[in-house]
Amino acid sequence: MKTAIIEGDGIGKEVIPEAVTILDYFNETYDWGIEKIYVDVGLGKWERTGAAITDEDIALLKSCDSILFGAITTVNDPSYKSVLLRIRKELDLYANVRPILPISGIYKLLNIRDQKEADVNMIIVRENTEGLYSGIEEIGDEKSTTTRVITQKASARIASFACGLAFGRKNSLTVVHKSNVLKSDKLFLDTCRQTAESKGVAVSDKLADIFAYDLIMAPQKYDVVVTTNLFGDILSDLGAVLLGSIGLAPSANIGDKQAFFEPVHGSAPDIAGQGVANPIAAILSLKMMFDWMGKKREACLVSRAVAAAVHDEVVTPDLGGKYSTKEVGNFILSKVRQLDAASFCLEDPEDLPV
Ligand code: ATP
Repeated sequence: MKTAIIEGDGIGKEVIPEAVTILDYFNETYDWGIEKIYVDVGLGKWERTGAAITDEDIALLKSCDSILFGAITTVNDPSYKSVLLRIRKELDLYANVRPILPISGIYKLLNIRDQKEADVNMIIVRENTEGLYSGIEEIGDEKSTTTRVITQKASARIASFACGLAFGRKNSLTVVHKSNVLKSDKLFLDTCRQTAESKGVAVSDKLADIFAYDLIMAPQKYDVVVTTNLFGDILSDLGAVLLGSIGLAPSANIGDKQAFFEPVHGSAPDIAGQGVANPIAAILSLKMMFDWMGKKREACLVSRAVAAAVHDEVVTPDLGGKYSTKEVGNFILSKVRQLDAASFCLEDPEDLPV
């Protein structure tokens, strides 16, 4: 099995190594046989070579099973094309998955009193290949147009993927749309409904603006949510508010053959190089990779180790802590080792001391 590692720019170079040490630990301890392939793409490469990503890089990524990605700085230069969009498109990573599940103990740490952790446990699934990000645009001085593409095929594919997640949870799906105004969303809604009904998943729908309100005020109403590209982009970032910090939000981009895991945050040039970036979003992205690989025990063990860091307040300044990226990473790795050595298994109770 091959895993590509893309650290990218800015804090990507600081947080990804902390996730990689955990990957290395399991890979070496259990002889998983994962071959790591470092791929250099992003602004740094563009400045050095004039290309942020090459055809060879894409071919290399296509040869890997999974990709662990940090962050890339995007600059406002017409010759600089979005690396992320290209990777998602070329590898056909059609499902963007954002779990909105706060780390146990985070609300206590952040003194959040108006929200209960138990009320927040949903997954937002965003269609990643079309919608307003179809790339079909006509730009003029007086009029610019972007075409919003919704196809039955892509809608059925993303709905089917979301139903797969719903099966393992509450078997319910909410379709978020704006079909009252955007007629293209009628096709999305109808297709998602039909797909869910054909699979025996209970389906409901919500207008995107009402969902945005509910997401903050009544998140307990939702479990698995499926939506189109732009709404998913915005709403899943909004959902990250419920996690307590952008530095805690992981995500995955999943295709039929490969998957790509990345923290939701960007390259954070304002704090890059200071060693204070929160590595937890990157580490939880690795946890998502373990889940995708079917390594459920190890995924669960990483979650527990992260919760231990929050519980013991070994956290970076964004969470009010005084610890560095490396110190938090080292602490989480030590907890992973400790839990592993204690023969932790999935059946162990939630309050297992760590
Ligand atoms: P980019 O241009 O790469 O998207 P950005 O600064 O516009 O970068 P983010 O990287 O998401 O966007 O950063 C938004 C804010 O959140 C910044 O103030 C940044 O310092 C903070 N931030 C992002 N990630 C982390 C993290 N892992 N730890 C701590 N703070 C973070």
